[in-house]
Parts: sequence; structure tokens; C-alpha cells
Amino acid sequence: MVVPYKHEPFTDFSIEENRRALESAIKQVEAELGKTYPLIIGGERIMTDDKIEVVNPADKKEVIGYVAKANQDLAEKAHRIADETFSWWRKTKASFRADILFRAAAIVRRRKHEFTAHLVKEGGKPWKEADADTAEAIDFMEFYARQMLDIDKGVEINSRPIENNRFHYIPLGVGVVISPWNFLFAIMCGTTTAAMVSGNTVLLKPASSTPIIAYKMMEVLEEAGLPAGVINYIPGSGKEVGDYLVDHPRTRFISFTGSREVGTRIFERAAKVHEGQKWLKRTIIEMGGKDTIIVDKDSDLELAADAITYSAFGFSGQKCSACSRVVAHEAVYDELLDRVVQKTKNEVSHGNPADNRSYMGPVIDQGAYDKILNYIEIGKKEGKLMAGGKGDDSKGWFIEPTVFADLDPDSTIMQEEIFGPVLGFMKASSFDEALEIANNTDYGLTGAVITNNRQHIEKAREDFHVGNLYFNRGCTAAIVGYHPFGGFNMSGTDSKAGGPDYLYHHMQGKTTSEML
Ligand code: GLU
Repeated sequence: MVVPYKHEPFTDFSIEENRRALESAIKQVEAELGKTYPLIIGGERIMTDDKIEVVNPADKKEVIGYVAKANQDLAEKAHRIADETFSWWRKTKASFRADILFRAAAIVRRRKHEFTAHLVKEGGKPWKEADADTAEAIDFMEFYARQMLDIDKGVEINSRPIENNRFHYIPLGVGVVISPWNFLFAIMCGTTTAAMVSGNTVLLKPASSTPIIAYKMMEVLEEAGLPAGVINYIPGSGKEVGDYLVDHPRTRFISFTGSREVGTRIFERAAKVHEGQKWLKRTIIEMGGKDTIIVDKDSDLELAADAITYSAFGFSGQKCSACSRVVAHEAVYDELLDRVVQKTKNEVSHGNPADNRSYMGPVIDQGAYDKILNYIEIGKKEGKLMAGGKGDDSKGWFIEPTVFADLDPDSTIMQEEIFGPVLGFMKASSFDEALEIANNTDYGLTGAVITNNRQHIEKAREDFHVGNLYFNRGCTAAIVGYHPFGGFNMSGTDSKAGGPDYLYHHMQGKTTSEML
């Protein structure tokens, strides 16, 4: 009997013992920097000449490690092995697969700070964010393992007296999992293990800026009893390896989390039926957001300012759930703006996350840095710069938390996903107008409403068109099993990670009917 699911608690680093534990874990990680990591195909470690250099975004000179880089030949080999492995893996018992995840979750929990310390370095995450990322990876494994056991119990369907009808779910086949760098552990682990536990075999291509944590997860899963060939670890370039795997006629489904640009590209490519392909590929695609917090006339402005500041600048705004737009009622606009600007200037410090003194760390790489600074220049023309606005890439890729006021709802800053610490303010003259502005993007991922007005809460519940809507709190930090996560419109396929139907996206229903 499995105990009911409960999310992994976060670590309180104001407690001396916890602080020391993470400090020593960081030292341990530092002692292991610069190692080389091979591909894992059918359990075999394969080294390539071509390598991905992984650096600490807070300190570009610090090399976290070198990772072997797959090419098309190796991708083909991995695909063949995944395909062969599927022929028997699909018949394994659900409890066998779930047990691997229960053991893996226990291993990660025991070595929690070591993983968190690694995320601080590889992802440039502040302690709190890195700790939450590790906790979420544990949660995904615990949650999906239980969900698989539930699905395995079957669904009751009707039979007439002359027949025995049954209905159950079977896995799809070989899945390509392409995971992001922002939740480098959690989302990578969640998307991969969901595909695996539901009976599929996997080709895992983690983000090129953060592939090492995925190697570490592979080691954990192997220790937990995962047979060779079920998950194959093949970092590589999107253009060379990603496209090849997406186009492959034996790929049965693709699970992607990342940018809208890459997500729509995968969606289009996956739609094409190639020679020798016997199915229509399934896609599970989670893309960006342009997420809004509405602050109503009658609301707690201190709560609003806290919720906005954390949602906008937690992990430097590099969450698809991050608040990048505030729509405030004109009656409270000035005061709210002032509170957020003061908090941003006084409380949102930024620096190397390793020492735990800063609220915010760097952004992930040079490309992100340049792109965000370019948006800041656009913002200076479109609105009024109230805080931040500068970057410094001399050591790591640091950008000040930046606030713009008085933006037009249709401006670039209010429409395009920036994926950095940039927040824009807009004014509305009524709650209805605020809702209209909130809905005026291509996206539909998260949103929040800060209000004391019950009618407005109910109106937003119906009309604020986002996959994750929160009241009187921020719009980030969804918890597995508590806030199923995924968005509408150009935010993706709304496949709700950590939700009650997530595994079904990786399976297909089969009906059997036997005459008696
Ligand atoms: N699930 C995360 C949250 O609620 C965001 C995931 C993402 O950025 O991809 O904040």
C-alpha cells in the first residue's frame, strides 16, 4: 500500500544547519567541476570528440563540465535501441515501473542538497529556487508513480450479458523528450519519467546549456533499477539531432517544453507523415507565457506588491509563469507602482547565487542576455523606466531587475515574451477593462488577480483565459499535484504537468470485447 502523495517540503535556509548543509554541498560540487560526461545509449557510455561546454552563468569562467554531443548516427542508434527496448518494456508491470520512481525519489531526497548545489552552479539558481527545483523533481516522480498505479487499476465499462468488455490504456512507443534549462531538474525529470512510467521508451535530449543534471538523473534511475535502453541520454544540437528525432518515422510522440519558436517548429514538423511512418505523432508541447497580475481597486496593496515582485523577479523572470505585466486599477496604480519600485530597488539584490546573499542570480547565457537588453532598449522608448535597465556581462550574465511604467497594452514590451527580469505596468479604468487587457496576448499560461471583491473573483474565474489562474497570490510556483500546470493558446497544449490526466497524454486506450 502506497502512502498518499504529499509534496516535498521546501528547505528553510534561515536555519543554521540547513545553511551549512548546502554550503558544504556547494563545496563538494565545486570539487567535482570540469568532469566529462558521456552519452548513455542502451546503457552503454559513449564518448564523442565533439563536446558541449557547460559554464556557470554567474561566472562564465567556471566550467561545470563537458558533455558528449550526439550526432545523427548516434541519434539513429539510440532510436533503434529505444524501439527494440519498447517491444518488451511495454509489457512490464506498472508496479515495476512505479517502484523505480519511488526508489529514485528516495535517492534524490537523501542527497537533496547535493542536487540543489548542482542546480545553483549549472542553472545559476538562487538557493531557494534551486531547492524548489529539486523538490519538484522529487514530486514529479512520486506523483506520476502513483498516477500510473491508479491507471493500472483500469476503468469500468459496460458489457451486455453475451460479452465481456474491457478497456485499458497502453503506452504509445518511442518518445522524444526535449527539456528546458529553466527547471533544469524538475521539468526534465517530470517529462522523462512520465513518459517512462507509462510504458514508453525515451530519447532524452536535455537543453544544451544544462545537460549535466540530466546525466545525474540517469545515474539515479539506473541505481533505482531502470533497465538499459529504456531512457537514452543524447544531448545534441536542436537543428542536427532534435529535428532528426522529431522527423523520424519511428518516433511516436514528442514531449517538448521551451520557447514558442521551437515549439511551433516541432508541432509543424511532427504533423508531417514520413515514409514508413504508421501513425500520427502525438505532441505534448509547453511553450511561453506573457503573464499578467491584475490589481483591483479594493485590494491589499502590500500583498500585491510582494506577489508581483516575487513573480516577476524570482529566478530572474526566467519562468514561463513569470509575471511580466501588471494591470492596475487607476485608483491604486500610483501607489502600487511606487511600492513595487521601492521593493525592486531595496529588496531585489542580484549577484552570484552561490553565496546566498542575493535575491536574483544571472540570466542563462549570452543569447538571453543580449535579447533581454534589447527588449529593455525597446521598453525605454515605449514606456517610462522606473527601476533597473542595465546589464553587466563582465563576469556572469547579470541584468538589473527592471520596471517600466505607463505602457500601452499593445506595445512590444506588453506583448512579447522577454524571459528575463523585466516588468511592465499598465493602467485600467475598470475591472472589465483590466480583464480585457490581460487577455489581449497570444498566450494563456498563468495570471493572478489581487482583489477583495468576490464578484470580480468569480468574473475572472470565468473570463480570465489562462491555464493557471491564482487569486490573492503570485502567478508562479505551481506545486505538483496541487496546481496542475499548463496553458492555453500559444502557451501550448495545456497538458497539465503534475495534473490528474498527465500520463494519459503518453498512452492510448484499447477496448477488447469477447463474446461469451
Ligand atoms: N511550473 C513553474 C511555475 O509554476 C513554471 C514552469 C516553467 O517556467 O516552465 O512557476
